[in-house]
Amino acid sequence: MSAALIDGKAFAASLREKIGEFAREFEQKAGRKAGLAVVLVGEDPASQVYVRSKGKATVAAGMNSYEYKLPADTSEAELLDTVHRLNEDVNVDGILVQLPLPGHLDEQKVIATIDPDKDVDGFHIINAGRLAVGQKGFVPCTPLGCLMLLKDRLGDLSGLEAVVVGRSNIVGKPMAQLLTAANCTVTIAHSRTRDLPEVVKRADIVVAAVGRPEMVKGSWIKPGATVIDVGINRVEGEGGKTKLVGDVDFEEASKVAGAITPVPGGVGPMTIAVLLRNALVSAYRREGLRLDEDAL
Ligand code: NDP
Repeated sequence: MSAALIDGKAFAASLREKIGEFAREFEQKAGRKAGLAVVLVGEDPASQVYVRSKGKATVAAGMNSYEYKLPADTSEAELLDTVHRLNEDVNVDGILVQLPLPGHLDEQKVIATIDPDKDVDGFHIINAGRLAVGQKGFVPCTPLGCLMLLKDRLGDLSGLEAVVVGRSNIVGKPMAQLLTAANCTVTIAHSRTRDLPEVVKRADIVVAAVGRPEMVKGSWIKPGATVIDVGINRVEGEGGKTKLVGDVDFEEASKVAGAITPVPGGVGPMTIAVLLRNALVSAYRREGLRLDEDAL
């Protein structure tokens, strides 16, 4: 391996420490703790794990965590009512509805019901619009975490060629917009892209958000490029044990790239850290308190 390892776990830990300091300052100034509400519908095991770790991380950062666990057969009206109540609750600065929702619930309708100024996941169409036109709002946590890792590694990104593989609303598209705003020349690749290896080869920055285990090969990477692997795929490893791999063939790509995120321990830990960051930013904004948001 010749590439430098981008240690998302360490970066996320130091970000969470900073958030803890600002959360204490917020409590002193506002006379209350910042609060993040998480709504979980049903018993999906992966979602239960995420919600538990989000709750723990919120409390560890010195904020209040409000958890709403609703049964799988919750009606849309009941769920929307919960969201409405959280919109009105002055102690709640951020609202996150854990996805995916059970099939009978309309995710878009639920997200559209969240107050955009408490939408710390950045999924509301108003926040997508704000990002698109360069206004202040909330940016989805995973791509914002990727941007932080890139800036930490590379400093000024101006003029760099960036290729984002994947165009989902939660990762690929916002990632491309963030990189455009950071003055990169951006290409968005997807399942219909012709000659993907050639497209990826011109990138100084590759962000892979595809959901296909080890799809991006070492031979696609320009020597010295910075590779951010968003993918989280469970595959069968040695002895039938499950292991996690990214969308990039780490073994190959780490011989060519200048720097690369591992899976696990790369982008994954950034997502919750940025969620806490967004919740705290919301708290400061809602109380009209000054905060250097770029320092977080
Ligand atoms: P989606 O399934 O919503 O989007 C996948 C994208 O990849 C689509 O745009 C699709 O193209 C594109 N794609 C699929 N196959 C190919 C291919 N053969 N060649 C080129 N492009 C292809 O996934 P998400 O964006 O939600 O997630 C992507 C990955 O990131 C997953 O592994 C997910 O688990 C992980 N993830 C990790 C997070 C973290 O915290 N680290 C958070 C969120 C996601 P098209 O649009 O044409 O169909």
